[in-house]
Amino acid sequence: MVIKTTFSIDKNKDFSNWYTDIVQKAELADLRSNIKGFLVFQPWSVLSMEKMFKYLEQVLQRKNHKPYWFPTLIPEKNFKIEASHVKGFSPDVFWVTRGGETELEEKYALRPTSETLFYQMFSLWIRSYKDLPFKTYQRANVFRYETKATRPFLRSREFHWIEAHCAHATQEDAMKQVYEDMETTKEVLHDIFCLPFIFFERPSWDKFPGAERTFAADVLNPDGKLVQQPSTHLLKQDFAKGFNVRFKDKDEKEKYCWITCYGPAVSRIFASVIAVHGDNKGLRFPWKIAPVQVIIIPIGEDKEIKKQTEKIKAQLSEKNISAEIDDSDKTLGEKFYFWEMKGVPLRIELGKRELAKNEVIIFRRDTGKKQPVKIKDLSDYIGKTSEDIDKHLIHEADNLFKDKIINAKTKAELKKAVDSGKIARCGFCSVGKEGEKCAEIIEKETSATVRGTRLDEKSKDIDKCVICGKKANHIVYVAKQY
Ligand SMILES: [Zn+2]
Repeated sequence: MVIKTTFSIDKNKDFSNWYTDIVQKAELADLRSNIKGFLVFQPWSVLSMEKMFKYLEQVLQRKNHKPYWFPTLIPEKNFKIEASHVKGFSPDVFWVTRGGETELEEKYALRPTSETLFYQMFSLWIRSYKDLPFKTYQRANVFRYETKATRPFLRSREFHWIEAHCAHATQEDAMKQVYEDMETTKEVLHDIFCLPFIFFERPSWDKFPGAERTFAADVLNPDGKLVQQPSTHLLKQDFAKGFNVRFKDKDEKEKYCWITCYGPAVSRIFASVIAVHGDNKGLRFPWKIAPVQVIIIPIGEDKEIKKQTEKIKAQLSEKNISAEIDDSDKTLGEKFYFWEMKGVPLRIELGKRELAKNEVIIFRRDTGKKQPVKIKDLSDYIGKTSEDIDKHLIHEADNLFKDKIINAKTKAELKKAVDSGKIARCGFCSVGKEGEKCAEIIEKETSATVRGTRLDEKSKDIDKCVICGKKANHIVYVAKQY
């Protein structure tokens, strides 16, 4: 039997099939586990996500967040302390009700998110203004009973993320943290994972349950829908009050903290890495998060060639470049297609002809170009090229947003924009409660949602609400979403 190693689906014409197919062909996840809505993450995705975690954690630690590991179970009484949090999360919770044969006296939630564990401990740990800001995070898997259709990496009932929780003395300090989280998102998601996004402040009806303000980064999927990626929240003080998170200020008065939380969901971000960078031949990985960065393919059976490929691999390992040799029985063509489909950024080919000239052929997955390189110059060449690869991927990805934002002054223009995979920029009466009715009309008639306002929005060039025609107090962005 010939193993079919080619991958060819037009991503722009048939994104949905492209995505489902590449997840399986590239062995990112096995969807055959017999728990509905859960998946088995395979090495090719895990190796990449491990690197993604590493970069996120490095930045968080550099910004003085301390790592913790909290329990996976949350007592029901913790969960119930903050009213809007309970209301928002209750439909999503898996409950543990038995230990062995014994009915538990109290139910435990499988954590859907861990505010209610962190803040209970904050109340024990934080005493004085000198303890603030108190900055923590954990890397964890969380569970949500999703009833919408699940999609590998994008939406499943268990996902892998980082949640950062910080306590501050003042609301102003807390907002500084929110800005820091947005900067962290740029440093990692954009500059390392090569993903472009826009941060929106969500309207009041779309805030995190228990948040005063919610800011979320929306990544644009190639099919024109937005995917919510990390969000950061200024929580209402109800959390601090409910859990009694207080400190003694300089003036000797006891005050409640202002708490912020930030949640980059790595397994979901991975979905955007697949979707944004992949092409009709399969995956393309940014250099720093590629599961394997260089695949070395010996051409022919020659012993000298085999020895040289081993040597190159060792030389690359010394420079912390992950390389593998493919000396399997597949044909050369099969090997080429296979590793292109897997998205390995660089391929080194070495045959007799190259060996005679002390060089190798290097193939770049992102551009599809080949070039001979002297073996002695290999490390330097790869060092420089790896930077070019990321620049190229960022540039291509940034272009996704180009021409995607369309001003819409009427409902018809709005509908036309979102139906053609664009983001509509509209005047809107209110992002407070009063505006919710207009947002509902948009959702009902166009199946798009109001993503919110932009912090960097300067002009107020549209003066009427796109739906009710009343005075526009905001410029909002409307798009379809996952
Ligand atoms: Zn309106």
